Amino acid sequence: MPASHSGTHLSLAPPAKAERTNLLAKPKKKIRADFRKNRSERARSDTWTQRFSVPDPQDEDEGKRDERISGKGDLARRRTVIGDLTDCGESGLGVRLDVDETVCRLGRVLSVHGLSSTVAADDGTLHRCTTRRLLKTLSTDQRHVVAAGDCVWFRPGGAGEGVIERVEPRRGVLARDSRGRRHILVTNVDQVLIVASAAEPTLKPNLIDRFLVTAHQAGLRPLITINKVDLIDLANLMPFVGVYSQLGYSVLLVSAQTGLGIDRLRRELAGKASVVAGQSGVGKSSLLNAVDPSLQLAVRSVSANNQKGRHTTTTAQLWPLASGGYVVDTPGIRQFQLWDIIPAEVAGYFRDLRPFVHRCRYPNCTHTHESDCAVKNAVADGRLDARRYESYCNLFLGDAA
Ligand code: GDP
Ligand code: ZN
Repeated sequence: MPASHSGTHLSLAPPAKAERTNLLAKPKKKIRADFRKNRSERARSDTWTQRFSVPDPQDEDEGKRDERISGKGDLARRRTVIGDLTDCGESGLGVRLDVDETVCRLGRVLSVHGLSSTVAADDGTLHRCTTRRLLKTLSTDQRHVVAAGDCVWFRPGGAGEGVIERVEPRRGVLARDSRGRRHILVTNVDQVLIVASAAEPTLKPNLIDRFLVTAHQAGLRPLITINKVDLIDLANLMPFVGVYSQLGYSVLLVSAQTGLGIDRLRRELAGKASVVAGQSGVGKSSLLNAVDPSLQLAVRSVSANNQKGRHTTTTAQLWPLASGGYVVDTPGIRQFQLWDIIPAEVAGYFRDLRPFVHRCRYPNCTHTHESDCAVKNAVADGRLDARRYESYCNLFLGDAA
């Protein structure tokens, strides 16, 4: 693992020595845990074992552990497991399983394919891992026991294989809600790299505003990057840069073609997990390749980008960067529009609108058609950027175009 990685908030580094000893010394507690009703579908776990033939070292004694059935049937079925009751946040687990830290290793899940996950260990080696059955059993949502981006403890097996034994608490989760179900796309994300182009395709500030709102809603730090500045006169971009800089956003002017600003971009991405968002053709792949040539992401010709009906996958993939950190560049996530913007929340995410909203005559003012609206007055006398206001209206009315 590159030096820049250690001690970052990626929490890939094992806990500090003292804390570690402490953890190990702690007496093991027995915990009553609620289990899913149907612990496992037999047929499925059989194929799982056959396919990967990685024995779960814990499965053997799982059955031997204290297992009480309360007589109320499956619903009330509980088992005692060894571990710590903690708030595991987004992971949906109420139990933190103990792992043997002398044998198990800490890693990052780069991608999940069905029942197996690709895990990068802290030394950069890749391991194809299955998931310890107990972990799956404890999960409230079996589909997301392990997700791309997770920090996990895994027990290495032979030949680059292993078994994930614990998932560390998640933060910065990107999820999509559809039909009442939460679909986790990627976890432990630090920031969103919003990529736009100065030309070809033309700069679309309203689209940047949309990405900003989505990033804020997801609680992620946005980083605005304008690519292809080799195609324009930089002076013309200054008013645009001014508006966003004043709002406290970082704006990087870069060119994948000439290499301008790439060093700075590389520094901004180092040691963090960044989701890359932006319209197709703006040069996302080109930029990432410029930051780290070993990525070798496919650069599409502009015309190929216009092909419709291409299957866009939302299965997230983390790409490790040579300078430390990861980028998530996944076709379905790139557009970043999977997350519905909630109109009532939009004003709260427009930093420039916020100071005015409480001065409107109506407390529930939408700042679109009301009279005595402080926001509209601010636009009228130039205290608020008219283009940003227009962008707000578009988002509020559900029209990003
Ligand atoms: P993506 O769809 O956002 O990943 O965009 P690509 O990386 O595939 O690039 C789309 C097109 O823009 C390709 O033809 C690139 O060669 C071109 N391109 C990318 N970066 C630059 C740049 O900085 N300047 C210029 N002039 N063209 C660029
Ligand atoms: Zn108003």
